[in-house]
Amino acid sequence: MASENGQCTVVAGCQWGDEGKGKIVDVLAQDVDVVARYQGGANAGHTVQVGERAFILHQIPSGILHPGKRCLIGNGVVLDVLQFFEEYDALAARGIELDGRVGVSARAHLLLPYHKALDRASEDRATQKIGTTGRGIGPAYEEKAGRRGVRVADLCCRERVEERVREGLGRALEFIAAGGDDLQRDVRRSLEAGERLLPLATDTGAEITEALATGKRVLLEGAQGTALDLDHGTYPFVTSSNTTAGGAGTGVGVGPTAIDAVVGVVKAYTTRVGNGPLPTGFDPEMDRHVRDLGDEYGATTGRPRRCGWFDAVLARYSARVNGLTALAVTKLDVLDTLPEIAIATEYSTDRGGSTSNFPADTWSLETVSPRYETLPGWRSDTSGAKRLADLPRNARAYLDRIEELTGAPITMVSVGTRRNQVVRI
Ligand code: GDP
Repeated sequence: MASENGQCTVVAGCQWGDEGKGKIVDVLAQDVDVVARYQGGANAGHTVQVGERAFILHQIPSGILHPGKRCLIGNGVVLDVLQFFEEYDALAARGIELDGRVGVSARAHLLLPYHKALDRASEDRATQKIGTTGRGIGPAYEEKAGRRGVRVADLCCRERVEERVREGLGRALEFIAAGGDDLQRDVRRSLEAGERLLPLATDTGAEITEALATGKRVLLEGAQGTALDLDHGTYPFVTSSNTTAGGAGTGVGVGPTAIDAVVGVVKAYTTRVGNGPLPTGFDPEMDRHVRDLGDEYGATTGRPRRCGWFDAVLARYSARVNGLTALAVTKLDVLDTLPEIAIATEYSTDRGGSTSNFPADTWSLETVSPRYETLPGWRSDTSGAKRLADLPRNARAYLDRIEELTGAPITMVSVGTRRNQVVRI
């Protein structure tokens, strides 16, 4: 059943992140009461355009741009406190009312300055570089899984937090072996900022359960995308958390039965930032062309993204892994000028076979050759489309084919950066 309008809806990326989830959450957030982020850290950057104003949000859910919505940061997030308050204060300075609107799970782990230092140092030393953003996300999740992390709830006990941080910093310095004074100073600043966090601490699972019980609507917002999921992505070129819809319940503290809709977000083509294979990647000239058309540079790091054709093998896999009830296709307008558009429907393997299932062996993705189906472009401006009928016939045929190949019903098509540039189906 096509549904983007559950009482508790997950929005998850279905490619390598940067699918435009911020924009889709922003559109869907109009009709909900609570928006909660369920994983990731400050490595993700959602860009949301409101009128003439662009907002880049790293940790605070993009629902904050809609007055009155409650915005939560779930226990599944690793929270960079300094960056959080930078973002919080910048929103306040731009006139966004925040009082009583932001809650942070008391079970969320803190991402501390030594996690960032560890991230950069381990990436520098690695022979197999992941291409991380250097924001400390991986090391913070490692400490969480290693049961050595510091949680928001710990901030209420100074001694406990001091001890954990001293041990954490000590371990980090064994690996980094320099810059201890600077790190110590930055850790101090983080902990001071942490005191500001305590009044915002909450039980996100309890809040969401209560909201649902009283008929309110909730949106659970993921970061990155399915191909970057720790379990289901192109390991080891992945992020350190579960980006897929399964991570949503765990990441905020509700059971899977609380969730009744899952919206997957895909770009009308594919992009990837960081290292690792991209089977449908363009040749260098086309790569540059589409990167410029789509302005494909990271919101957090400014890194250029690699671009390629729509990969239906990945999208179909994502539809299954996330249990999609609806699909949102973004950036259709970026393809407006292309004479022909291809979709990868399966992969030919180097052993002479073919597969339509996304392979577990990441290294095999380096050698597969996608089999493409080519469709005619529409060569007209879609950016003003408001209804399906406003889209050119070839654009609709392209969307129909995506829907057929992924098996997920398309309910939204985004044709520009602005809130009103969206076709609801
Ligand atoms: P996210 O992390 O998934 O939210 O993605 P990003 O914010 O990193 O990237 C999405 C970028 O694409 C932002 O700059 C958006 O303003 C922009 N964007 C979103 N939807 C559309 C669209 O339909 N058309 C165009 N041209 N840009 C879009």
